[in-house]
Amino acid sequence: MVIFNDMGKSLIVQKYGGSSVANTDRIKNVANRIASYRKKGHSVVVVVSALGDTTDELLELAGRITDKPSDRELDMLISTGEQVSVALLAMALHRIGIDAISLTGPQVGIITDRTHTKAKILKISADRIRLELKKGRVVIVAGFQGMNADQEITTLGRGGSDLTAVAVATTLNAGMCEIYTDVEGVYTADPRVVKDAKKLSVISYEEMLELASLGAQVMQARSMEVAKKYSVPLHIRSSFTDKEGTIISKEVKAMEEVLVSGVTANKGEAKVTICDVPDRPGIAAVIFKDISKADINVDMIIQNISRKGHTDLSFTVPMAELNKTKDVMNKIVRGVKAKGVVYNNEIAKVSIVGVGMKTHSGVAAKMFQALASKKINIDMISTSEIKISCVINKKYADGAVRVLHKAFNLGK
Ligand code: ASP
Ligand code: MG
Repeated sequence: MVIFNDMGKSLIVQKYGGSSVANTDRIKNVANRIASYRKKGHSVVVVVSALGDTTDELLELAGRITDKPSDRELDMLISTGEQVSVALLAMALHRIGIDAISLTGPQVGIITDRTHTKAKILKISADRIRLELKKGRVVIVAGFQGMNADQEITTLGRGGSDLTAVAVATTLNAGMCEIYTDVEGVYTADPRVVKDAKKLSVISYEEMLELASLGAQVMQARSMEVAKKYSVPLHIRSSFTDKEGTIISKEVKAMEEVLVSGVTANKGEAKVTICDVPDRPGIAAVIFKDISKADINVDMIIQNISRKGHTDLSFTVPMAELNKTKDVMNKIVRGVKAKGVVYNNEIAKVSIVGVGMKTHSGVAAKMFQALASKKINIDMISTSEIKISCVINKKYADGAVRVLHKAFNLGK
């Protein structure tokens, strides 16, 4: 038997996001692009998202029935979007004489854990993909979905088609994984906010993972974790032009010369403050154990200095998990005998990211100075080797991104 891993470099995985297949003309356009790769002799596996805003519309439908839909039924519902797009794309390829077949996540053998709505991929068997490739077909895989050990359909979290693409590319040892979207690549900042934002021609996995986690919306953050772990060769580009986009690659020495690669703002988090918590060993452990048990992703954590044996503790959570957080917090506040809890969803987290920070100092001071020059107050700060994040008032988020972009000379 031919081992299709050996097809290696000529195999390309392409992922088309919702905007690239938003209507039938765009689907035909995608089919033409795939055909051009076939004609150059590549084997092609395509991963597609649902058409346009389909997933949001399906969720909205569910919301009109109940505010507490079961996660299993949600997955049953939202996985349908991708099934529509793969079938239409296969038809569009047939129409222009290209042999192609569409497959669902379960048909492809994408096996996940038992979590619904944000399942993790455990393994991909991919025998079916290999078999179809051997027949000379373009294989079109429904993104965002898989099946668990109980043969239940699961989905991989919003933006999960990126994860499908990266996981399929690493399983098949593809020569390239192209991520097609409606922007031309990864920018130094959101071009809608910063007029002179620049497209980056290359960026490291580490930086891209940080940018994705911090609110740049080009790639799902979890997919970047997998891409980084397995060094999947990635090219983020637009399906509307032939221009090269941004290549994601391993860090090379030259990248360190750039202090900051990008600036992001994440407006999708809320701040939770527990007031007057007894300042004793073990209290934080109790609090965050209950929160993690509820599957809530805590980001920044800050504890204030202690007054008379009590302290305030603040942390941030995704806005989408705020209701769940409130449920748990009520119990926690009673449990640890804190005075109360306050929520603030008028926050934004602005961040600067760059591998150059590892070897340069003074970056934080420059960031704080730039924010101060616009009289923007900093509420929380967190740092890692290659990023600095500040929580500020949401209404200053765009202004903060602009002043930071300028302070670090990122413009054209
Ligand atoms: N259709 C899903 C979503 O909108 C998955 C994806 O687009 O990647 O989240
Ligand atoms: Mg989508």
